Amino acid sequence: MAQRILQEMYDVVVVGAGCAGVAAAVSAAKNGGRTLLLDAGSLAGGELITGLPVDGALNARGEWIVGGVLKEILDEHARLGGYIGPVKDWRLIWYVCIDPEIMKVAVMNVLARHGVELRLYSFVEDIVTDGDRVAGVMVVNKQSRTLVNGRVIIDCSGDGDVAQLAGAEMMVSNAQREFQPLTMLFRIGGVNVPELLDFCVAEPENLAVGESEWMGAELTARECAERLREQGQPAVFIKGDGPLIQKGIAEGRLQPTALIGIIPVSNERREVSVNTTRLANINATDTSALSKSLPLLIDQAWKSIEYIRSSVPGFSNSYFAGLSHRIGIRETRRVVGDYVLTREDVFEARKRDDGIGKGSHHIDIHQDGIKQVRIPVKHGGSYDMPYSMLVVKGVENLYVAGRCMSADREAHGSARVMGPCMAQGEAAGLGAMLSLRSNNPGDIRAVSVDRLRLGLLDQGAILHGTH
Ligand SMILES: Cc1cc2nc3c(=O)[nH]c(=O)nc-3n(C[C@H](O)[C@H](O)[C@H](O)COP(=O)(O)OP(=O)(O)OC[C@H]3O[C@@H](n4cnc5c(N)ncnc54)[C@H](O)[C@@H]3O)c2cc1C
Repeated sequence: MAQRILQEMYDVVVVGAGCAGVAAAVSAAKNGGRTLLLDAGSLAGGELITGLPVDGALNARGEWIVGGVLKEILDEHARLGGYIGPVKDWRLIWYVCIDPEIMKVAVMNVLARHGVELRLYSFVEDIVTDGDRVAGVMVVNKQSRTLVNGRVIIDCSGDGDVAQLAGAEMMVSNAQREFQPLTMLFRIGGVNVPELLDFCVAEPENLAVGESEWMGAELTARECAERLREQGQPAVFIKGDGPLIQKGIAEGRLQPTALIGIIPVSNERREVSVNTTRLANINATDTSALSKSLPLLIDQAWKSIEYIRSSVPGFSNSYFAGLSHRIGIRETRRVVGDYVLTREDVFEARKRDDGIGKGSHHIDIHQDGIKQVRIPVKHGGSYDMPYSMLVVKGVENLYVAGRCMSADREAHGSARVMGPCMAQGEAAGLGAMLSLRSNNPGDIRAVSVDRLRLGLLDQGAILHGTH
């Protein structure tokens, strides 16, 4: 490749077009910033377009706790059709069911509406610094190497690539170097939903249900299953230590797994997404290890489909409808910010004056085999995420948002889901624009958090009034 080095200038450069990066870029652009959204891959939206529901947008009581850009994207999805919306899993959470295919369109429409410049197939391989600032990111793609200067940079790379290159302090998993499993999601269409829900009522010993006071803890498993059936959606969490999964593992037809998570994605196509494959303790920033995982995960996916079709009522006439376009990565590096969100913040549902967004998902740490940590937030509530957790320690103009957030491992286990990741991104995008209007443009510590909060409320973010 010719070493043609170009130079460009933006107000805000967002690295990573997953859900956090999309929210950050939309938020910066809608506030007048010339905004570039970069991604090494071929699509924008991240896990919004792989078949997952949006967790952490409502708390366990069913109150919405994230609005803003997420709401705008969900509204666009609803306008395009096929939107299912909030569903109660009768285990721990309300989640928002979306159609990943329609979501691909909705995300692009909202990015275009606000004038975000999207550049795909472009890898950030290095940075250029100017004192304590990141002056720009070096991007390589087929055309050239380009130094993209940004007055504020937002690291939504999932792995904290920009922060790491900037010399920021990083955190990696725990002392045992355990990593939450990689997962290949797949989808199954033509599901007989009433038959599946009847099976839940008939054999509730297979289900994870009633795990908190807001999700039927006072009910029997069968009563929870009856509520699931009344809801009418194929939202079913088959548990790893239940007879159905145990049989599959014992017969060598299923990988050891904590769940067969069945998630509604399209009522029209009677289609569900399935979260069950897993390879734990792989460091996904090791590209060779990640690549070697793909055939193993695809093999698990195919065997799981065969097992589900032959063993789970409702699936006997179903068909394979597709694989996610990428391996799902739950955990790699986390960046140290001015504040590190803690387990106690999450568990105690702590509220704060400098909150820029909320989270409510349980501490959710998938482990090897059938193990998974699930600790609900107290009283079905939500916690506030402070502005300072977005601010990368030691760097003047660099935010971090999304999966590589500044949080201890357990807090990350909660705030890593899409609702809070998008709230973080949205706050960083607006914060970037406010910092550019301050006396020291680009100094993100000069941002008035009170002004930021008011601006976020104007954009429809939810900062108070919920449990
Ligand atoms: C299997 C699985 C199940 C999950 N279940 C749920 C669920 O049910 N509900 C829920 O809400 N959440 C769920 N989560 C968690 C959640 O989906 C993710 O944590 C969240 O989507 C992360 O979003 P992000 O934007 O921070 O990161 P990502 O989606 O990882 O986006 C990062 C982007 O940055 C790009 N990138 C990385 N490095 C570079 C670079 N150097 N240069 C350019 N681009 C780069 C990548 O290509 C990627 O597109 C799940 C996660 C997984 C993997």
